[in-house]
Amino acid sequence: MIKIPIANPSINKKEAISAYKVIKNGWISMGKEVSKLEDKIKKYLDVKHAILFNNGTSALNVALSFYGIKKGDEVIVPTLSYISSANVILYCGAKPVFCEVDPFTFNVTASNIIKKITKKTKAIITVDLKGMPIDYDDIKKKIKKYKIPIISDSAEAFGAVYKNKKVGSQLDMHSFSFFANKNMTMGEGGLVTTNNKAMANFCKILRNQGQEGRYNHTYIGNNYRPTDYAAAIGIEQLKKIENVLIEKSKIAEIYSKKFKDESFIKTPFIPEYVKRHTWYMYCLRFPNKKLRNKIQKKLNSKGIDTRLSFPPIHLQPIYREKFGFKKGDFPISEEIFNTFLDIPCWKGMGINNINLIVKIIKNELNN
Ligand SMILES: *Cc1c(COP(=O)(O)O)cnc(C)c1O
Repeated sequence: MIKIPIANPSINKKEAISAYKVIKNGWISMGKEVSKLEDKIKKYLDVKHAILFNNGTSALNVALSFYGIKKGDEVIVPTLSYISSANVILYCGAKPVFCEVDPFTFNVTASNIIKKITKKTKAIITVDLKGMPIDYDDIKKKIKKYKIPIISDSAEAFGAVYKNKKVGSQLDMHSFSFFANKNMTMGEGGLVTTNNKAMANFCKILRNQGQEGRYNHTYIGNNYRPTDYAAAIGIEQLKKIENVLIEKSKIAEIYSKKFKDESFIKTPFIPEYVKRHTWYMYCLRFPNKKLRNKIQKKLNSKGIDTRLSFPPIHLQPIYREKFGFKKGDFPISEEIFNTFLDIPCWKGMGINNINLIVKIIKNELNN
């Protein structure tokens, strides 16, 4: 039985009342609340355009299709990410070209990407894994001469700060997710942010069946519309996000301090350009898979939920089958996957739970 979940949304009566008001008003599909939340997010992230979607995968999918990616094209993406980051490339009919990540930050670097650029590369997708921003400026500077658009799967990084600015306008566009285990949630929800007006218009048209003016369809779109009651939940969640992020960083700090003297454990490495990590997941690294598995098993047996987020995408059965990938193709990402472990980190989990988790891990290390 799970006693301490891996994530726990800060959602309560306030969200329920807001959603109820929308239901009572009678307009429950995409409407006023969606626009209201988009305006509030624009201000919060300091971006020109914010477009809500029904989930983060749709948001990334539409953003990528803005570039007219098609069969025969290649899109570079790190293999160490959630499956959506690569699936959206397949939805466009293009080929995902995986790259490695940095062994310390778990994030892509310019050199990981450049190694994979060919004449067919039409876009690059980067990922702020676990909610820690990549080094945007460095990547932009070094990729500039290739003239390839870079889009960011920032699903886990809502509220993160890179240098002195919130994540959301560093690259051509960013997509975010408001899934149930993200720091801000609408149950299901997604977002594109951009400073590019053409991209913003494209997103609005595509999420609504390619419609420009009622029943006038200028693109093959899809139904990626969020509902108004989900947006009402999002508006309440946005009021809480700063608090959630502050609380989570306190927990992360406690963990890192408590594990500081354990030579077998590596706590998360945070580069200087990261002014705020969202701690979507707090992740420990162990010297080998055997020890990691032993600790995971112990935690699970005590009702403490853990995650291995995520298995490298190239090793997923469907990707192996389609492209012939095998173990050893991306050794750094595979090694990270074999030795890392996400442990619970959520607002309100309490110091007793934190201490219990630390104690179990330390006990296991020492016997
Ligand atoms: C959550 C997540 C997504 C997908 O978002 P959904 O809202 O579940 O579609 C995409 N990429 C990453 C890295 C994620 O963590």
